[in-house]
Amino acid sequence: MEAKPRLLTLLHSAVIVTMDSQNRVYLNGAIAIEGDKIVSIGESSHLLREFDRQPHEIVDLSGRLLLPGFINTHVHTSQQLARGIADDVDLLTWLHQRIWPYEAAMTDEDSYISTLLCGIELIHSGVTCFAEAGGQHVSAMARAVELLGLRACLAQSTMDCGQGLPGNWATHTTDYCIQSQKELYKKHHNTADGRIRVWLGIRQIMNATDSLLSETRDTAEELKTGIHMHVAEIPYENEFVTHTRKVDHGTVTYLEKIEFLQGNLLAVHSVWVNDTEINSLARTGVKVSHCPAAAMRMLGFAPIKEMLDAGICVSLGTDGAPSNNRMSIVDEMYLASLINKGREAFTKGTTDPTVLPAETVLKMVTTNGAKSVLWENEIGSLEVGKKADLIVVNPSSWSMVPVHDCIASLVYSMRTENIESVMCNGHWIMKNKKILNVNEEEVILLAKKSSAELLKRAGITIPHRMNVI
Ligand SMILES: [Zn+2]
Repeated sequence: MEAKPRLLTLLHSAVIVTMDSQNRVYLNGAIAIEGDKIVSIGESSHLLREFDRQPHEIVDLSGRLLLPGFINTHVHTSQQLARGIADDVDLLTWLHQRIWPYEAAMTDEDSYISTLLCGIELIHSGVTCFAEAGGQHVSAMARAVELLGLRACLAQSTMDCGQGLPGNWATHTTDYCIQSQKELYKKHHNTADGRIRVWLGIRQIMNATDSLLSETRDTAEELKTGIHMHVAEIPYENEFVTHTRKVDHGTVTYLEKIEFLQGNLLAVHSVWVNDTEINSLARTGVKVSHCPAAAMRMLGFAPIKEMLDAGICVSLGTDGAPSNNRMSIVDEMYLASLINKGREAFTKGTTDPTVLPAETVLKMVTTNGAKSVLWENEIGSLEVGKKADLIVVNPSSWSMVPVHDCIASLVYSMRTENIESVMCNGHWIMKNKKILNVNEEEVILLAKKSSAELLKRAGITIPHRMNVI
């Protein structure tokens, strides 16, 4: 029996920024999608003639820009209900008084609602794929991601040692950490039509024994998956590693010594790295997730220009809601360019507006993002054979008009509000700014209720500011 032809969608008359290896931009382009894949891309006139059978859906995108879906490489979905619980506090208060008690008091259902709320914000900002930094309730996250229609690399928050951990975490052994992640891999890897992958997590080196590090590396190799880890976030971390692990600089130096640095490691932040360490990251193929807003709030200036010059694959992330607080990758694109231009002027004493130009920033959220999540064979650019993960941008609003240079406008002028529609794996998940798979208003109501109850349970109170009457 002949296989039934799958439904064909034809999007035409858009400016298509493909992000392919030749940086092709079609001024009047069209793209054909069959099932979950792109089957044709080119000039509109050509594609409109080419298809002899009637597409199931044909959309005229005149005046719109079409791009690959953005990839956010550092997200804490479980922290979305913690937005605003740790603003303007020092790092130890942030962690010990607010975030750890919050995460430790969280239930499966809280994590599910938190991920739904986070996913809604990600989709509005044009994200089709994200890498989870690690939470306690991976199955709940997977349930939310499946429903939202997003693509994700999920990870468990993994720690087997450290000071000040909440009671129910402090007892996790190395063996438990590895076994529980293997079980999650078995249960969720490659589920939701292949949209969900399971990675291994290391929260950070101060919460990881040497055996957890080496077993994580070996397990990742065995499962052929990636490792998500916060690396070299603050000077204290480097001092701690220098002192306890007897190396002359910090985390990256130590990770190289124990042969932990490799192509499947996604190192997040990596703010406090020296030139030797940048070279080690480049040589070993480690990917770096740069989170500009979170770095400015809590960590410092990461040497992104130096990393890119050294050939490191750097992508962009929002981090979690209590450290950003906006989960918009569109804002991070703008910030990444400005912050790194500013850093250059500050460190060199002379301005260089060519640092992190718009093309580079667009690469960071698309092709570099795809390489960072080890998925570049299927996502990151609009090309025949790749998955249909794409976004439609409507620039006709006060925030973007006029557009004289569309590549620059996408980075310097575009706001989240300009993202009109989002498709992931061949399915629309947002159309005309309406999230399709979940009821946005309902999730907002649920989120308000659960976050209030969660903070109460965790015993977290936020002190008043100003003269509250
Ligand atoms: Zn993080």
